[in-house]
Amino acid sequence: MADYEVDYSEVAGRKVDCPEGCGMCCLCQPEVLPEERQFFKASHPRSLVKVRDPEPHTALALKKGCGSCVFLNGRRCDVYEHRTAYCRQFPYHLYASDRLKVELDLSCRGVWTGTGNDALAEAKDLVARASDRIVAALEQSKAVYREFYANCRESGVMSDPSRIRMTVSENASMFTDLAYLSRIMDMVEIEPVMSLSGLQPETRLDLPSLEEAGRELAMDSMSSDDPLNVPVYCDGKWNWNMFMASNGRIRWNVMDDEGDLHEMGSADAGEIALRVPDAEGSKVLSGYVGTLNGRDSFLGNVFSMMDLNEYRDDMANAYYGCLSVSVMDLLWRMSMLDHFMGVGNGAEGMREAVIFYDMDRLDAPTIGAFV
Ligand code: SF4
Ligand code: SF4
Repeated sequence: MADYEVDYSEVAGRKVDCPEGCGMCCLCQPEVLPEERQFFKASHPRSLVKVRDPEPHTALALKKGCGSCVFLNGRRCDVYEHRTAYCRQFPYHLYASDRLKVELDLSCRGVWTGTGNDALAEAKDLVARASDRIVAALEQSKAVYREFYANCRESGVMSDPSRIRMTVSENASMFTDLAYLSRIMDMVEIEPVMSLSGLQPETRLDLPSLEEAGRELAMDSMSSDDPLNVPVYCDGKWNWNMFMASNGRIRWNVMDDEGDLHEMGSADAGEIALRVPDAEGSKVLSGYVGTLNGRDSFLGNVFSMMDLNEYRDDMANAYYGCLSVSVMDLLWRMSMLDHFMGVGNGAEGMREAVIFYDMDRLDAPTIGAFV
């Protein structure tokens, strides 16, 4: 039996369904593992392509090179019994750091239905099936984490990650309140070692600069003309919405099943005002902040930024900064969805923003690895 620690806390108590008509997760290009290649080579040789990034591997081809997987037909999989391990895994992500954490992709609408299969049982089954890959990934990721912590100690920026997370969970409301968020974003730049205790909210909120910060972050992630590189938002009617930003303008497109884009509207980013969630929206946001705070991949992303910045930032500053930035990005996306589609700023608007945002969050660079 494999000997490694697995954290299932993100999936425990949840149910996962896969309602008909979605197909959003088939807009990706799943890797084909060596043991899976034979089936595709023999039956569908033109469905395999070589992909260079992040590591060279074999994957399934996309319709027109940018649409859904070639096997998606009427939003159903033509090779369902032979779909890849990665297809089976979605919406679960297995993240290797110095342990294994099972995370749930909240961009999948099937995780919000409250119906379907028991997520914990499904996750345990997936972990058992991926055991060999997990052992190999953990061997590498544990070494990377050891080196990372040694670099932090040497540079004097080491803090205890569990304490940081505990502080965030004790002060979660600070991360859902603009007046505190603004103060945190200022303080992480000023204070050598940031502390949340005794922090006072901003008394005179500079809304235009907060709006600008959120807009810049969201625009960055949408700034591409290539549908493969922009975030997808699958709405409640199963439309695959893609927002593409260039020169300060956002084009809203819907991709059809053949891989063609249809423009639905556009706006100057400056026309979109930052919306603040109402009381019910704040509850959804608070739940999401808790999820991010519990995710090892979020921590791994903070660590990757510290590494990129050559260990200049204290770990607590980097963590609080990254969490605040995520919330700003999320709020602006809710504002954008509201502008184009009228989702509002309540529980529904916030939930739709999480659905839109979470895929990007899980795609963020990290020092660990998704198995
Ligand atoms: S994104 Fe979720 S609901 Fe949609 S097809 Fe994939 S697993 Fe099913
Ligand atoms: S093989 Fe099937 S399940 Fe996997 S991405 Fe393609 S259509 Fe979707």
